[in-house]
Amino acid sequence: MADAFDLLLIGGTVLNPATNTKHKLDVGIAGGRVTAIQANLPEGNAKKILDLEGCFVTPGLIDFHVHSYWGVNPYGFDADPICLATGVTTTMDAGSSGPINFLGFRKLVYEQARTRMLAFIAIAQHGVFNDPGELQNLRFADPDGAAQAVADNRDVGIGIKVRMHRKSVGDNGRAALRLAVKAGEASRAPVMVHVGDTAISMEEIVDTLRAGDVVTHCYTPQQPSIIDESGKLRAAVRKAHERGVIFDVGHANGHFDFDLVQRAMGDGLLPDIISTDLHGRMGPANPVIDMPTTLTKFLHLGLSLEQIVAACTSSPARAIGWQDRLGSIEVGREADIAALQVVNTAHRLRDCVGGERTAEQRIAARWTIRRGQVFPGKC
Ligand SMILES: [Zn+2]
Repeated sequence: MADAFDLLLIGGTVLNPATNTKHKLDVGIAGGRVTAIQANLPEGNAKKILDLEGCFVTPGLIDFHVHSYWGVNPYGFDADPICLATGVTTTMDAGSSGPINFLGFRKLVYEQARTRMLAFIAIAQHGVFNDPGELQNLRFADPDGAAQAVADNRDVGIGIKVRMHRKSVGDNGRAALRLAVKAGEASRAPVMVHVGDTAISMEEIVDTLRAGDVVTHCYTPQQPSIIDESGKLRAAVRKAHERGVIFDVGHANGHFDFDLVQRAMGDGLLPDIISTDLHGRMGPANPVIDMPTTLTKFLHLGLSLEQIVAACTSSPARAIGWQDRLGSIEVGREADIAALQVVNTAHRLRDCVGGERTAEQRIAARWTIRRGQVFPGKC
């Protein structure tokens, strides 16, 4: 008799927010796909068995904001080994390529990486740059080209990216935002907007966005932030969130402030999506570290494990309209899975403004399974 499973996951608790599942279940995998989810699957015909006692078996994590165009874009880093050691099976590159060099991203990154590496495509011709910023001169904006690149590459290019901080756009913020939304409309795709140190107000930014567009670095302490001068969540931000604008963490080196996150969450703005914004310019004092550390910060701040897992699986999948194929463990889908453990140990966490907290628990990624292939966790 043929082997029933190439890989059988036993002993773990399946935590799958997309289907409201939190049960002790086995997961059978064959041909890179999930073929069975139920208690006590037969072990006899499994080629390999992984005992996940004490772990939560979740969909492979989606890191919605990274810079993975390594060796081409100045922010790029070699994301694949880090992803596969930390439970991450899908990443969204946040604008490292633009209409001129997106096909390079497709060939050099998407086609080579073991992690599924999708991309928001910048309206700036060559993608996001550092110095001088990519849209200091609007001659380099090509919203039609970006929309076309998305339309021609729906399997990889899943949205439009624009950065709004002064270093990127100088005084062109208002125009750049409008061009990005135009590209989003033309391609029928979400726009991801980088906030923090913008020349136009937070009110104008969120009022311009459509339902389904994404504010990344949503908890940045850089001005204008989502918190007003009196320390309250801005009314326009609340309104935008209620009508479906998506708020994404995008932690990075500069966009996470424990006090600010707490105030915003206290006023009702929980993160829709939790992401790292890992890139190649992380110094030795890098406070973001990786996806499990970023998730641990929200566990410490009081989100439930279910909320946290949803914010890096089903929610980001829905944000790009891929909920039918990403972000859930279901029979027939690609076997992209993370085995996470909540470890009861004191753990020091740092934000980007010198804040520190000691968490009583941390989230560790024990295993990453991508298309049925098993990679051990580094923590
Ligand atoms: Zn970024």
